[in-house]
Amino acid sequence: MRILITGAAGFLGSHLCDKLLGDGHDVVGLDNFITGSEANISHLMGNEHFTFYKHDVSNYIFVPGKLDAVMHFASPASPNPLSPYAYFNLPIQTMKAGALGTHNTLGLAKASGARYLLASTSEIYGDPTEHPQKETYPGNVDTTGPRAVYDEAKRFAESLTLAYHRQHGVNTSIVRIFNTYGPRMDLEDGRALPNMLKQALLGQPLTIYGDGSQTRSFCYVDDLVEGIVRLLYSQEHMPVNIGNPTEMSILQFAQAINEITANPAGVTFIEHARSARDPQRRRPDITRAQEILGWQPQIDLRAGLQKTLPYFKEKLNLA
Ligand code: NAD
Ligand code: UDP
Repeated sequence: MRILITGAAGFLGSHLCDKLLGDGHDVVGLDNFITGSEANISHLMGNEHFTFYKHDVSNYIFVPGKLDAVMHFASPASPNPLSPYAYFNLPIQTMKAGALGTHNTLGLAKASGARYLLASTSEIYGDPTEHPQKETYPGNVDTTGPRAVYDEAKRFAESLTLAYHRQHGVNTSIVRIFNTYGPRMDLEDGRALPNMLKQALLGQPLTIYGDGSQTRSFCYVDDLVEGIVRLLYSQEHMPVNIGNPTEMSILQFAQAINEITANPAGVTFIEHARSARDPQRRRPDITRAQEILGWQPQIDLRAGLQKTLPYFKEKLNLA
């Protein structure tokens, strides 16, 4: 297949490029580097099966040649209000990537007769009252809170994707991604894993926002990519959760990072840094992924952190 990946220079997009090239496909990457980095794809430059365009998905997209699949991953993705790379601080770009970018990529898939895959998110469930979250749960969300620019853009994107499927017969799919971590995360983007792993390797106390009782379920990137690629190869149209259902509090997560890095500095609680409507609980119900894709994660937190450490050490010049 010849596959377009938007957001190709980002954390997930670059791993998808590697996986799909490894599976023997031709990959066309597209990115405007707003939160991604050239370094994430520099190893692919010169590969005859990889082409790259610097472009903003909010503008009309033209890609010469045939496309068999379009995967829309371009969007700022960090919720941390303290980070300049977070969608809190890129609110209009975030809404445009989710709305206009989805419209443009769907139009391209329609014109090419391509399979389409939208990167959606567990954030469409908001601060969930159903736990764990099944794909049928409609969410506890709002249009005006600080996370709304991301959540509502992704919700719109899902609806538009299904509209293209229902009205135009485009072969669409939607993955709802839960917290994922691994090499190539931006150390400065403010998400929990890069913040804390960097702090641990520098011997600093890990910053816990609020009291650390809020939960998340962290998936290692290789597991996620495997699930996404299985969804791409399937004929499923309705949303599928992909994530690791092992749930823990953010305090337990921080303790695991301190243990694995032998960081003696402990944790520090920053009450005011926890944003309004930061979800209290999050855990995927992955029954659909198991039944439809035969997928479930294989890599536990300890193994995943071990695989992530070398990249962070290299970036911090500690290797
Ligand atoms: P990332 O910031 O590393 O990657 C996003 C990429 O999109 C970056 O390279 C950025 O430059 C690019 N981009 C953003 N706006 C663009 C635009 N208008 N035009 C072209 N390129 C643009 O983030 P990520 O974690 O790799 O996330 C990728 C996708 O997965 C996003 O759509 C995100 O919403 C989704 N997602 C990620 C997670 C996670 O845990 N990593 C969880 C849920 C959903
Ligand atoms: N968090 C934290 N310390 C940090 C960064 C994040 O305690 O240095 C918390 C954050 O408030 C949230 C959780 O960790 O409750 C996960 O945050 P992340 O930014 O990774 O993404 P989210 O799951 O909120 O989208």
